[in-house]
Amino acid sequence: MAHVYQSVVALAETLEGRWKNYRAQGDFDLFVEFTVSLNGLTEQLNRQHLPGLVRACQELENAALALFGDQDMHPVPIDQANALERKLGVILAELRRQEPSGLPSRRHSDFAENAEDSWNRPRRILIVSRASHPWSISLSEQLSFFGFIPESMRWDGTPKSEEPPLAVLFIPDIEGCAYPPSDVASIMGLRTRFPTSYFFCLSVPSNLQSIVLLERAGADACIPAGNRNNGVLPRILDLVQKDEEEAHRVLVVEDSASATAVIQRALTQHGIESRAINDPRKLLEAAAESRPDAILMDMYMPFCTGVEATSALRQIPEYHALPVIYLSSETDIAQQVEALRLGGDQFLTKPINPIILASVVRTKIQRYREMLYSGRHDSLTGLLNHSTAKMQLGQLLNDAQPHGDLVVAMIDIDHFKSINDNYGHPVGDQVIRSLAWLLRGRLRNSDLIGRYGGEEFIVALPESKIERAIALFNRIREDFSALPHTHVNGSVQATFSCGLATLPGYASASELIEAADHALLEAKRRGRNRVLLARKAARA
Ligand code: GH3
Ligand code: MG
Ligand code: MG
Ligand code: MG
Repeated sequence: MAHVYQSVVALAETLEGRWKNYRAQGDFDLFVEFTVSLNGLTEQLNRQHLPGLVRACQELENAALALFGDQDMHPVPIDQANALERKLGVILAELRRQEPSGLPSRRHSDFAENAEDSWNRPRRILIVSRASHPWSISLSEQLSFFGFIPESMRWDGTPKSEEPPLAVLFIPDIEGCAYPPSDVASIMGLRTRFPTSYFFCLSVPSNLQSIVLLERAGADACIPAGNRNNGVLPRILDLVQKDEEEAHRVLVVEDSASATAVIQRALTQHGIESRAINDPRKLLEAAAESRPDAILMDMYMPFCTGVEATSALRQIPEYHALPVIYLSSETDIAQQVEALRLGGDQFLTKPINPIILASVVRTKIQRYREMLYSGRHDSLTGLLNHSTAKMQLGQLLNDAQPHGDLVVAMIDIDHFKSINDNYGHPVGDQVIRSLAWLLRGRLRNSDLIGRYGGEEFIVALPESKIERAIALFNRIREDFSALPHTHVNGSVQATFSCGLATLPGYASASELIEAADHALLEAKRRGRNRVLLARKAARA
């Protein structure tokens, strides 16, 4: 996926060129061009799931937008221009540092073609705490197990390397109390040093002042007190493992050809894909075909108004939550309120400012996608839930037919009931989570991983040979059996059994699952802690 990196580099070069133009000539129009291309770069980095760089770009965007109000102040004073240039320099330097190395970055990776391997993402995690804090020790252990490189640092220490780590974790001395001013100062210092790393503050009391103070100091995420360290690891895994986000797609419903052209150009400039229809009667068909993440709806069109079209759209359950943004020259507040009451999400008045349009669209789409995400994922593990996993397996099967390779695995933790009975439900939950994380850490982004039931998981590996899959699951099985799960009096180990089935010979997702399930039962019967391949279906 080096081409993705190339396209980011091209955007960054344009950005740098536009900035130089602006510095040379000082026109407001050139400043607008610079901001537009910055916005496009942010969008692309967001899709690559590079939160540190996105954060740095957004900060620069905010600083640039603050200079938008008054055209006459351009060229901006030299100290402000220098401040922007410093921020831009940080982003460009970080992009150059992340040049693809061509080497797989995952220590345990069993497949070289992982999407993020083209990005030389750091795996170093800095843990800031007092000397030998027990959490720091256990987190270091866990992180190394999942292929990260932890490095401990004291609150008053300095990091060993100037290279920005992937993330920095802060552990306060006293659990659940406000961070003392000296800690907040250390966070600020590190934020200046590492503008693109992701900062997690652990054990933050749930009060607004504490959170706001830490966010101001540079925290990206505050993990509440009482959450132990459970919340951190999956979020760090998220930083490196989330799939490349799909481009945002917008359906434009607008009868005026010139308005449509202006809107679509603004969207394209910001990396948002769009399709337009000029007749609201085509709305349902177009929505079904192009599966948009948001609709931009004109208010006044032939046949019906935008409000009527939206209200009709809302009759269909799939579109209950799809964001609808009205575009209109309507400035009557009462009318706008009525339009929102009838099912719209936002009102933008024409003439449309392209930067505001793009940022409104993007924010709505992100919220919408987060909502869809929580409906499709299991809350304990973050894996796909049962129904979504099954549906996506059906899609993988369609893609693989008739001659492709596809391996399905059903995995079930052995004697799990006795772990619950002996150590309690929370320890059982932790065992389930650990297996989920291990699977996420060892599989490709293109593999499907779901929580099928209580302590049962489903995995599907597209384009994989069965021999490789057997070796892979055996390695995961051995590593899982060595993983200690801590409880109050020490630690406990667990094992799992695994049944595999592979194409050809199965016509549906259910048949594949059933065959893998049979193999799983047989693995249990033969003594557990083993991986077994299903015997071929009779007709294969
Ligand atoms: P086997 O080796 O045959 O799989 O034995 P087992 O004990 O693992 O299987 P069994 O099906 O008897 O028990 C599974 C237990 O998993 C029963 C259920 O209470 C527990 N369980 C299901 N979901 C959860 C969960 O989310 N958290 C915890 N802690 N336990 C769960
Ligand atoms: Mg119109
Ligand atoms: Mg079990
Ligand atoms: Mg079970």
